[in-house]
Amino acid sequence: MTTPPDAAARRAARPVICYPTETLPTPDMALYARARTDLRKIGETLVPPRDARAFRVPAGHFFRIGCVDGPQVGDLNLWNAHDLSERFFSGKTRALHGTHLGMGHRMWSTFPHLRPMATLTHDSLEWYGFDDDGAGVHDVIGTRCDPYTNALLSGGQYHHCCHSNLIRALAAETGQSLAEAEPHIHDVLNVFMCTGFTRDTHQYFMKASPVRPGDYLEFFAEIDLIGALSACPGGDCGAQHSSDAATCHPLLVEVFAPAPGALDGWMAPQPNRYDRTHGS
Ligand SMILES: [Zn+2]
Repeated sequence: MTTPPDAAARRAARPVICYPTETLPTPDMALYARARTDLRKIGETLVPPRDARAFRVPAGHFFRIGCVDGPQVGDLNLWNAHDLSERFFSGKTRALHGTHLGMGHRMWSTFPHLRPMATLTHDSLEWYGFDDDGAGVHDVIGTRCDPYTNALLSGGQYHHCCHSNLIRALAAETGQSLAEAEPHIHDVLNVFMCTGFTRDTHQYFMKASPVRPGDYLEFFAEIDLIGALSACPGGDCGAQHSSDAATCHPLLVEVFAPAPGALDGWMAPQPNRYDRTHGS
């Protein structure tokens, strides 16, 4: 390895934020805060440990993912309920908001839509911030535990990875076969998972989730949604995943309707304004 004589100067270039968010349309958090003070629960779905369930949330409603029994990480997928090709875009959400999501951040959808699907309106783990290892909760770094990477690294057949759990849940909700459902499964929001990058090798790491029973993450649905949530076989992800070793717990999804008139002034986000001519 040869280091050029001007290495220090090259390394001293100033970091520039790739996507400054000053011009992002900002959610009306005051409106959401008022609306969430008077909510009526209209449904709930209990996600069994090491399995997944799908659920639907109408636009203009809130949904919560709650820890009800013990520390547990959840892998969340979201789709436009009327068009599964519009789905959560983890990579662009990361580029816009950073590695971990918090209050006021949005879950953005794939091209050509690129609009907010859901807005984070409450996080009982907001206090966690970033710890001394550089870890935070609710990351959009990881992909989802899956049987292919597991086979690659360990050679085993493990079927209750989040990827397979999400396939079964989406298939059950939509009537699709497993083969039809699989291409719709996408990189997740890692709900309650505590993760970061190691300082020396910059590898993705996890540590035991700080979530406890009573904690929840709440979203406002900006469009009609189908969601699927997997209670990861890693449990609190403090040791390992893709095995039956970890203690696992259920997660509870609850859907709430705001009071009539509470959302006056709110409009569902429109599809992206780019004209899609791509220079032709
Ligand atoms: Zn998982």
